Amino acid sequence: MRLRHILSLSFLALVMTAMWLLWPGSGEPPWRGEIQDDELPAGLMARAGPLCAETFSTALAILDPDGVVAGKVETAADHVRVFLAETIVTIPWAGPMIIQASKDTEASRSLETNRLGGLRILLDPGHHGGAWSEAESRHFPVWAGPADETGELQVFVAAAEGVSPPTGMTRRLGVLREGDLNWATARLLQRKLEDAGAEVHLTRGPPPEEPFPSGMDSRFDAEHEARLWLDEARHRDLMLRAWARLWPARIATIALERRVRLRARDELRSLYNSWDLRRRSALAARIDADLTLSIHYNFARDPEINHVIVFMPGHKPAEELRSNSAKFHALARLIEADIPVTIEIGRLMGEAMKEHLDMPPAPPFAPPPGSRPLWWPVDAKARLFARNLAITRRTPGPVLLLEGPFMNHPPETTRLLQEDIEIDGSYYPERTRQYAEAVLQAVIAAEKSLRERRERREVFSGKLVETAMYEKAAGDEG
Ligand SMILES: [Zn+2]
Repeated sequence: MRLRHILSLSFLALVMTAMWLLWPGSGEPPWRGEIQDDELPAGLMARAGPLCAETFSTALAILDPDGVVAGKVETAADHVRVFLAETIVTIPWAGPMIIQASKDTEASRSLETNRLGGLRILLDPGHHGGAWSEAESRHFPVWAGPADETGELQVFVAAAEGVSPPTGMTRRLGVLREGDLNWATARLLQRKLEDAGAEVHLTRGPPPEEPFPSGMDSRFDAEHEARLWLDEARHRDLMLRAWARLWPARIATIALERRVRLRARDELRSLYNSWDLRRRSALAARIDADLTLSIHYNFARDPEINHVIVFMPGHKPAEELRSNSAKFHALARLIEADIPVTIEIGRLMGEAMKEHLDMPPAPPFAPPPGSRPLWWPVDAKARLFARNLAITRRTPGPVLLLEGPFMNHPPETTRLLQEDIEIDGSYYPERTRQYAEAVLQAVIAAEKSLRERRERREVFSGKLVETAMYEKAAGDEG
């Protein structure tokens, strides 16, 4: 009697467990795409610009070296079609793009005092500095040894706190925080651009005073961010895909939800960084920026290296185009028609930075043999390269990431440690002012093209409402 009792109870428990595991509707994997499929039509429409066949093929060549995106577009005599997941967007061709050289009219002369009036520029000081610089891994202690025979000070820049300097270099000169240098450069540039009449926005405030994670934006949700990470990661990670197929489905959900929670707990810093990158990129859309510039200083393993690098969007290898969100970013960039103007501004920027920062010429571009380079020269002489960076990938409109002086090149290290300029109560080196001046000169040189782009886009979006359309495609796997 007692045994039967236990057996029936066990049986009941078994049935209940089976029902719980097999219950339908519990098998939704917890990942969520950065761009949801139902956001694709409106998202692509918002980015469409005055495209002509020539602009289109230039952009395709720069963006898509492996021909992934090329398989998602179809051109005809009067339009181009974009296919993604269940979405088809049809965009009419606009007239050919003519980038006007200087037009010496009454109007342009009257601009002299208000040269950049009406232009909106978004400045993105790269990385958090201040008390967050160590968490950002952009924190470089500087050590000095005795002067050499020529009387020059020997300096060593450590890649992080705790990295021992070479023997004999015992004097700590200070610390370089890339975020602080970027911030100072952006603030000085903001003033210069505003003096020239531009409307300027910054993606962030002054360097944090309390260490990470204090001061995180309250809108950041670590679990939500971990789900976005999971969605991207499953395209690279076989294990994640295998887990998602576990049966019963509830087991798969439990396993993946656990990954999400662990990620949210252990990778807070990197998740916050991804969230912050999206926030900064989204600002460009919100203010309808004519130009976004992300400002950086560089660091190399070899302290001999010191040259300018300007990165523009593009060079997306197939392995970085697997998710629908990644394809969305590529297609949106392709149809927004801003690649030619971005190339022009990128060239001007590279030339102005070389000249005003008095940077040495760079060695010729040589990709490492056997491995695929992460970036590709668009104009090696002007130091303009295409690269699929987080900020250049997502930011709509013309966007560049500027890499200025190398912080661990000894003459630069000494310059960058100086405290010549006061900004909001803190002191920064004169080099930041030279950097800001270089960028200002390039923006002024690009002013007419930026206006031309704005005008063409405004005319085009008026027509787009009548002619463009999107519809649901059947059976496209995206
Ligand atoms: Zn940087």
